[in-house]
Amino acid sequence: MISDETQTKKLPQGDTGTKTVFIKSYGCQMNVYDSQRMADKLSTAGYVETSEAEDADLVILNTCHIREKAAEKVYSELGRLRVARDERRRTGGDMQIAVAGCVAQAEGEEILRRAPAVDLVVGPQTYHRLPDLIARARQRTKPVDTEFPVEDKFAALPAPRREATLARGPSAFVTVQEGCDKFCTFCVVPYTRGAETSRSVAGIVAEVERLAAAGVREISLLGQNVNAYHGEGPDGRSWTLGMLLNRLARIEPVVRLRYTTSHPRDMDDSLIEAHRDLPALMPFLHLPVQSGSDRILDVMNRKHTSADYLRLIDRIRTARPDMAFSSDFIVGFPGETEEDFEATLRLIEAVSYVSAYSFKYSPRPGTPGARMGDQVEESVKARRLARLQALAEGQQRDFNQDRIGRTMDVLFDRKGKRPGQIAGRSPFLQAVQVEADETRIGTVASVEITAMGAWSLHGVLSDMPAREAVA
Ligand code: SAM
Ligand code: SF4
Repeated sequence: MISDETQTKKLPQGDTGTKTVFIKSYGCQMNVYDSQRMADKLSTAGYVETSEAEDADLVILNTCHIREKAAEKVYSELGRLRVARDERRRTGGDMQIAVAGCVAQAEGEEILRRAPAVDLVVGPQTYHRLPDLIARARQRTKPVDTEFPVEDKFAALPAPRREATLARGPSAFVTVQEGCDKFCTFCVVPYTRGAETSRSVAGIVAEVERLAAAGVREISLLGQNVNAYHGEGPDGRSWTLGMLLNRLARIEPVVRLRYTTSHPRDMDDSLIEAHRDLPALMPFLHLPVQSGSDRILDVMNRKHTSADYLRLIDRIRTARPDMAFSSDFIVGFPGETEEDFEATLRLIEAVSYVSAYSFKYSPRPGTPGARMGDQVEESVKARRLARLQALAEGQQRDFNQDRIGRTMDVLFDRKGKRPGQIAGRSPFLQAVQVEADETRIGTVASVEITAMGAWSLHGVLSDMPAREAVA
């Protein structure tokens, strides 16, 4: 779920207003979703898009704190923004600079000390208050709002705007769960995102219906621990993620459902049965294991063993035989020996992943891992990471190669790399390019895979009807 890539969030053109905003998202998809919701909220205060920070009256950096590198990127970006703001001031303009997201939550006032150009700091639970915070910042008060308020953020946000939804394409994120109570010893999330909370089924259904009506065909449910979902159902009882997925599968014309990120301990029977019963639920699951060593899993406080994890993979594959898996891995957690690392490689071989995200352990202030002795040397982490990635990349290549000659449904979501091409995603999230008319964007079609490129598969439209219902 985490990538260090930086995504740029643009508001659609066409709103009526006089102020411009530029939002840059770092880190996970939950931040991308939050940036979209900030944009929705700011549009009610008259803000419209600009695609360049230099042209913006307001720049928001929606930050990630998961690893040191991710957090440090923010400070170098703030240095560049200060220069851009000074330039605007020289020509009679101005620029407000806001820091949002997990660095904001974790570092609060410290950000103002390290980067005095920042005008306001807002945590992930209070961004619905942005218009008010911006107004206060204009009075030069530099507000820092990192509370975990009692009011429901989602209730205080406007519904996603139709024109913005259309501009964002046929795949949409919907956050259904936030926070985490698991306290893995390497992780800052329980401190930055707070305790586990779930949105109500009614609120999620309303949002998905609105997205579907605006043309969305694929919904990815998001949560730091999405399968710990326990929102209030229409019957007043607490619903599981499996129950929620069953309800969302009835909303037409959404044809694809996904969810991320899951914890192995929370894969309950209702969720595994949903994979068996719901054709709309895609046969791809990101199920991070972090390590294959039981000793390291124990010190990480993951509360499952590698055998538990492998049994779980078997159960899910029994329910849905074409299921493909991806995972996150951390190498060089304190005390990790060569033997522990070999156990991780063995687990990767046993599962055979179609994609993997792997990271060198990064000690995070305030987490138990950062205080542990036996920190592993950077050079050892780098060597282990390279070995792990070589193994995982080989598995991914094999899986992609194995698709050649097969037919898969593809949801087209954008123009392709070359004129005349369009691109989309397979059920397993592989990028697929075909020669076809742009009018097919937003629909699902059956594609015969003919070749494998460096970054995507290539195929031709097949005569077979798509198995996933076409809207
Ligand atoms: N909730 C998910 C789970 O339990 O697996 C993970 C969410 S975390 C935001 C995303 C990934 O970042 C983790 O799975 C882990 O691999 C990685 N990560 C978290 N803390 C890290 C750290 N201190 N150093 C390196 N990688 C880390
Ligand atoms: Fe972090 Fe562990 Fe919670 Fe995932 S389950 S968010 S890794 S503390």
